[in-house]
Amino acid sequence: MNILLVEPDFPIADKSRNHSHFLPIGLLKIGSYHRRLGDGVHLIRGLKECPFTPDRVLVTSLFTYWSRQVHEAAAFYHGLYPSAEIEIGGIYASLMPEDCRRRSPFARVQVGLYRGGCAETVPVDYTILPENLEYQIIHASRGCKRHCAFCGTWRIEPKFTYKKTVLPEIEKPRLVFYDNNLLANPHIDRILDEVATFRLGNGRSVTWECQSGLDLRLLTAERAVLLERSRMKYPRVAWDGPYSDWSRVKQAVQRLKAVGYGRKDIFVFMIYNHALSYVEMMKKVDACRRWRVRIIDCRYRPLEAAEDNYRPGPRPQQPGLYYIHHGWTDAAVRGFRRKVRQQNIAILLDLPRGRYIRGCEQRKV
Ligand code: SF4
Repeated sequence: MNILLVEPDFPIADKSRNHSHFLPIGLLKIGSYHRRLGDGVHLIRGLKECPFTPDRVLVTSLFTYWSRQVHEAAAFYHGLYPSAEIEIGGIYASLMPEDCRRRSPFARVQVGLYRGGCAETVPVDYTILPENLEYQIIHASRGCKRHCAFCGTWRIEPKFTYKKTVLPEIEKPRLVFYDNNLLANPHIDRILDEVATFRLGNGRSVTWECQSGLDLRLLTAERAVLLERSRMKYPRVAWDGPYSDWSRVKQAVQRLKAVGYGRKDIFVFMIYNHALSYVEMMKKVDACRRWRVRIIDCRYRPLEAAEDNYRPGPRPQQPGLYYIHHGWTDAAVRGFRRKVRQQNIAILLDLPRGRYIRGCEQRKV
């Protein structure tokens, strides 16, 4: 069987397509699984002709608000290969299967992991990609035990499953864990111990990052030591709760600093344009300035939002073009984003508190 894997033309800058945040790892796993079965597999990113006539076309989806590109791709390949079975899977398809079926009625919709997770344990064959990557993606767990209101993880992967080890999977010097809540894995200490002492065939050790934030409730002092010893880069502490959690976040940051991470290494993840007001979010931002750590901000969009027409930059947008949470305004969303950006630069440049770079000019606020 010939299988075409399709990553739709998502609005990702070309230079970021192979960034670890955007790699279509689901498709790569499925492709690896089918190669092992002896199937022909080809990956296309965007809308192009395939070198063979596929029997099946598997289209992945990502955020719900990037659904338009998914349906464009499904329609394109359905037109190009009318006898092929078209299947749509991934995050949007799992969260909004009805919407997906309605908009591409000719396609089969895969909810959750592909065929119940049959591709999960297959080593990823990175040669499916035309480029040679210097990193690899690893999942030490799937799902999450928590049920945060804004998050789709527990809806897409309702069962929290985990591995005892990842050693047999390691083949590259840089690992990127795609786990949603890495520290919740009951075997995480052992896994980090193993990564700390692991050496590749050429004697090289590995470094690693985690795409998601670390659950601060699970970031103990002992774990901080393990993170550093296992050569974790750029730890990110998740701070989605209220400002009143500040002492626990501060403690987590201090634990990371105590084991050697500095202001250029540590990040705090926070979601805005959601339940916490602009004023409260600004207090969280100020706290990060006091602790001299940078922020990764994530603008909330409802899980069922099939479009997002937010345009970054200072120019205002009319209401209705993108999702603005109750209590927030377009000006607040842009003001928050701007403040985070300025503050991150100030921390990177080690400017004294109260000083920012704005354009080329430094100003006191
Ligand atoms: S802890 Fe993180 S992954 Fe788990 S439900 Fe909350 S936001 Fe999602």
